Amino acid sequence: MSPNRSYLPVMLADRAVIFIKAGDGGDGCLSFRREKYIPKGGPDGGNGGRGGDVLAFGDKSAQTLLDFQGRHHWNAENGSPGSGRDKTGASGESVTLRLPPGTIIIDNDSSEVLADLTEDQEVVIAKGGSGGFGNAHFKSPTNQTPRETTPGAPGEAFEIRLELKLIADIGLVGKPNAGKSTLLTALSRATPKIADYPFTTLSPQLGIAEIDPSRRLIFADIPGLIEGAAQGAGLGHEFLRHIERTKAIVHVLEIEPLDGSDPVANYEAIRKELFDYSPLLAEKEEIIAVNKLDLLATDEDRLEAISMMRTALRLGPDDPIVGISGATGFGVRDLLEACWARLGSAEPGWQIP
Ligand code: GDP
Ligand code: MG
Repeated sequence: MSPNRSYLPVMLADRAVIFIKAGDGGDGCLSFRREKYIPKGGPDGGNGGRGGDVLAFGDKSAQTLLDFQGRHHWNAENGSPGSGRDKTGASGESVTLRLPPGTIIIDNDSSEVLADLTEDQEVVIAKGGSGGFGNAHFKSPTNQTPRETTPGAPGEAFEIRLELKLIADIGLVGKPNAGKSTLLTALSRATPKIADYPFTTLSPQLGIAEIDPSRRLIFADIPGLIEGAAQGAGLGHEFLRHIERTKAIVHVLEIEPLDGSDPVANYEAIRKELFDYSPLLAEKEEIIAVNKLDLLATDEDRLEAISMMRTALRLGPDDPIVGISGATGFGVRDLLEACWARLGSAEPGWQIP
């Protein structure tokens, strides 16, 4: 566990560890003017260019650390060496890590917090090396023909840890064995590491679903929500506060429950328990995911099952119900689109402190 744990009021954390390397400075150049009619040219070796920095920028449109989980090395460009005729080498391009505001940047070795990024804030995380001196720099009245140059300084390079507090957009509820965990795996490309949570057996699972690169949804599987609440164990205030900030609920319903129970009765039981647990949560927009449709033989059967469920649950024509199979991935895309549509104008993604 990181020594900085206590610094972070984090329950669900998205994180990534990356290696950053600022550009090395370019070497200074050793050169003497060699021109016609100038027999003894003076020194004209230029200085090396500066290496680029590694910068971090708090970018509102960045929602997650997914981009950083997929790429470990982030290098700025090296400076170019100096050249003759007193030419200074070009500076290296900097590289900018565009991170969601609220990302905490930590030196992975020392655990020192380097930045706690706010929106539109730009900070230098690793400094590029300065360029070396060309021999022209060393010219003096007593040294007309210096042969001395210096190499460019190396850019700073080290490993950093990025941590982002996430608030789930969508909570998954349903009876045990409805298939919530399986669904979460199916719709998540990445499962960020979950921070310590006091009720370990009840800890929520978090996943990030990417519909396309600009549309990402964060799901929280809430196992034990109902069972925990029913036993009076509760899940703690922080957890409740967290899930009450989700924007919608996906209610996962088994089409043919393994235990032989009735899907409609299961639905109503969860609704009631949800209401008892948190009226605020129960009022959220709900998308019903009729799961395990792979158990039905044909598409026709699947369509009919959905329409029967619609009637049995007395849903209105606009109430969202989607047939899926978490196991095969069937309908999962439609479910994501339905979730996205339900978020309406709400800001997708995450929100911070
Ligand atoms: P959870 O308790 O709601 O998290 O449910 P799980 O995801 O752990 O799944 C419970 C059981 O249902 C497991 O045996 C899964 O293999 C099975 N299961 C989950 N999703 C599907 C599905 O889409 N189709 C079928 N046939 N079985 C599933
Ligand atoms: Mg589960």
